[in-house]
Amino acid sequence: MFENLSDRLERSFKLLKGQGRITEINVAETLKDVRRALLDADVNYKVAKQFTDTVKAKAMGQNVINAIKPGELMVKIVHDELALLMGGETAHVNLSGNPTVILMSGLQGSGKTTMSGKLAKKLKSQNSKRPLLVAADVYRPAAIEQLKVLGEQIDVPVYTEPGNNNPVEIAENAIRHAKVNHFDLVIVDTAGRLAIDEAMMKEIAAIKKAVKPQETLFVVDSMTGQDAVNTAKEFNQTLDFDGVVLTKLDGDTRGGAALSIRTVVDKPIKFVGTGEKLDALDYFHPARMADRILG
Ligand code: GDP
Repeated sequence: MFENLSDRLERSFKLLKGQGRITEINVAETLKDVRRALLDADVNYKVAKQFTDTVKAKAMGQNVINAIKPGELMVKIVHDELALLMGGETAHVNLSGNPTVILMSGLQGSGKTTMSGKLAKKLKSQNSKRPLLVAADVYRPAAIEQLKVLGEQIDVPVYTEPGNNNPVEIAENAIRHAKVNHFDLVIVDTAGRLAIDEAMMKEIAAIKKAVKPQETLFVVDSMTGQDAVNTAKEFNQTLDFDGVVLTKLDGDTRGGAALSIRTVVDKPIKFVGTGEKLDALDYFHPARMADRILG
């Protein structure tokens, strides 16, 4: 069973935090635990090793053993390294292009449609964008309806082409429509399947090729553990996406997925979804996620 990375780390640090004095043996054992926890969370072996080696070097450099609060210092070193591993700084979206095109990808149920609405709302209010949402899911009428409902809630038009079952054409036409009607942001919501299949991958790759988005975002449910990592890998192989959106962080997960995905696909996490409401969206802050992972 996949044990939460944060629980594992918390367990490793509990001992260390509780002790007034620590020894080199305590440090070495904690680092071993940390490495094991990272590996179990599907962090790449080399990354995990490099991580613990760096932490060890820093701990020695800062003379953790003789520090006044050695456990706290150690936790801080690990915290800062975790934040660095997740990108260090908050990654922003590329809003160049007229219009800017954002392509949303991900499995069905990952939160893609909700996230399309959230992004439109945020970029409209914070970046004064004039967004157009595009329903390029030709398989599920319910998905188109859902996007329309979201669009109404945030007062953003939704481009649809009833009767056209070619999502590439719909996306291309939507961009033409945006140019003529002076929309400067086009968010294309694509079809998701319950599991990855070749047809889906081909289709979204074709849409990407046709619309040349400034940002291709991969949306993933952070509650799905190992599956999230594997799905991210597969989508990245086909799409070479620009960023990850982690949804459902309001669930009981504490951020292990963020670290694993970041290290496995080496793409920045750009946004996080923290609830079902349309304003439950935030930029990804590596330091805050490190806090969360460490509990
Ligand atoms: P899609 O199939 O990928 O388009 O996924 P949806 O946008 O339809 O989302 C699937 C379900 O997850 C819906 O019930 C959403 O309300 C819910 N959902 C989406 N994002 C979040 C989030 O950040 N937190 C929570 N708790 N639920 C979310």
